[in-house]
Amino acid sequence: MAKNILIDHRRATLRNTLPRHTAQLGSPPHSATPRNEIQRAVVPCNDCKECCTDTVLLLPHEGDDISQYDHVMLPGPGPDHAVALRRKPNGECVYLGPQGCTIHDRAPYLCKTFDCRLFFLNRTRAERHNLVKRGLAKKEIFQAARRLLEQETKKGDAPIRSVASLNVSDD
Ligand code: SF4
Ligand code: SF4
Repeated sequence: MAKNILIDHRRATLRNTLPRHTAQLGSPPHSATPRNEIQRAVVPCNDCKECCTDTVLLLPHEGDDISQYDHVMLPGPGPDHAVALRRKPNGECVYLGPQGCTIHDRAPYLCKTFDCRLFFLNRTRAERHNLVKRGLAKKEIFQAARRLLEQETKKGDAPIRSVASLNVSDD
């Protein structure tokens, strides 16, 4: 089992002020956003599948119906944070197919909302290094984010370009 099994980095990305480790999250407040109004992150992932080879927690308080997913129970601080999508022996999500996600329309909350670029930008270089060093975040996700940000900065048409230009060179 990967060291970062309890990491909820996708949720923390969306809610910048929350700690990232589920052990620190406790019982989160229920979301006021109805399931059908969740705003899906638009990330030009192309062939990148880094997010689909990491632990993805299911969040009932965000509208995830656990019974609708092939899942596993994880050791965790509370029931809301103890369930994740099942992964194949190679670490991939069971729903990852040759062409990408096979349940795109009903993917869990975290899959719909995660944006690695924000995950990168909302942390200082020191914070990113620390998270990777402690096994609380995948280096590959930060690397993917940096690639995207660099591409967008070059193109000059990215909505978060101005923010990216501040931090993207921080490895
Ligand atoms: S790391 Fe970024 S580019 Fe890669 S799959 Fe995740 S969101 Fe997409
Ligand atoms: S449900 Fe789809 S988007 Fe989410 S981790 Fe699995 S394959 Fe990736």
